[in-house]
Amino acid sequence: MINVHEIKKQLIDNSIHWKDALDLLTNRQKPWTTKEWKEKRDLIIKDYCESCGSQDGPFVLQHTIQPAKFSDIFSRIRYEYYQAYSEGITFKYKGKIKYIDRESCPFCSSINLYFQKTKNIWKCNGKCGKCFEEPKYIQDVDPVQKKDIQKKKKIFQDLNKLDFENKYMEEIGKKSVLESIVHHEEYMSFKYTATFCKKCAFLWDKKGVKLCPVCKETYCSIHVDMCMHCFKNRN
Ligand SMILES: [Zn+2]
Ligand SMILES: [Zn+2]
Ligand SMILES: [Zn+2]
Repeated sequence: MINVHEIKKQLIDNSIHWKDALDLLTNRQKPWTTKEWKEKRDLIIKDYCESCGSQDGPFVLQHTIQPAKFSDIFSRIRYEYYQAYSEGITFKYKGKIKYIDRESCPFCSSINLYFQKTKNIWKCNGKCGKCFEEPKYIQDVDPVQKKDIQKKKKIFQDLNKLDFENKYMEEIGKKSVLESIVHHEEYMSFKYTATFCKKCAFLWDKKGVKLCPVCKETYCSIHVDMCMHCFKNRN
């Protein structure tokens, strides 16, 4: 089985494509089932629960931070690249804009309106929905041209997206796999772990709660540092 450090090396010197590297990483043995992981765990696991203090085993080594999902890493990096790429790129219509007089709602200026012949009255179909006798005339882009502008804008955006992917997709993929490897290494280094009793591990994994680390009395979300009570009484 190819090891992670080897994959990392090949990625850096471009001797493997990031998609193949990702395949290898996804299909490898689950880290926590490896001998390496089990041996390390046995060395650092304590004989009491670091959350509730219980000395009744058995104990498990709980990862308090889970490695980020590849798809999340990828989306985030792609977003960052796209922000940088699209800065200053705006669509400009080359033709001369033709304005025409159009009927509009005198209350909300919507051009979405219609004439009710039976009642001899205009009705706004836009924001306000009010009725009125005379529409207000405003200057607006010719509807035919408006459609043309929208079409050209869509083509412009599609071309940009394609250009962006051609230019940066390889870099984004590679960077994402490398970052995912860092998460894996952190996982294997046991950096964010704690010894838990079965009950605390269950509450953490299945309920998303932990014993408040400050008062050790109430349960709170695993995403906060202390319970509400301790938070209000801090300092
Ligand atoms: Zn416990
Ligand atoms: Zn209106
Ligand atoms: Zn508390």
